[in-house]
Amino acid sequence: MSGINLPSTTQCKWAEGESGNYTFPCKNPRGDGSYCEYHAAIVYETPEQRKARAEQARAANNAAKRIAA
Ligand SMILES: [Zn+2]
Repeated sequence: MSGINLPSTTQCKWAEGESGNYTFPCKNPRGDGSYCEYHAAIVYETPEQRKARAEQARAANNAAKRIAA
């Protein structure tokens, strides 16, 4: 395992990217498992839940942009 900048042991291990080129954008402390509460919920959710959450996140992002603008 080289070339991958692993997060610290107390950091959420949520990874993004393609094989061999991962980044660990989540800086939240991990919970009981390898992920923070937020990402643990994503990892263990069903595809239906994932789709619903993605749509919620998109709506929330749009709302945040409107507030920031
Ligand atoms: Zn996380």
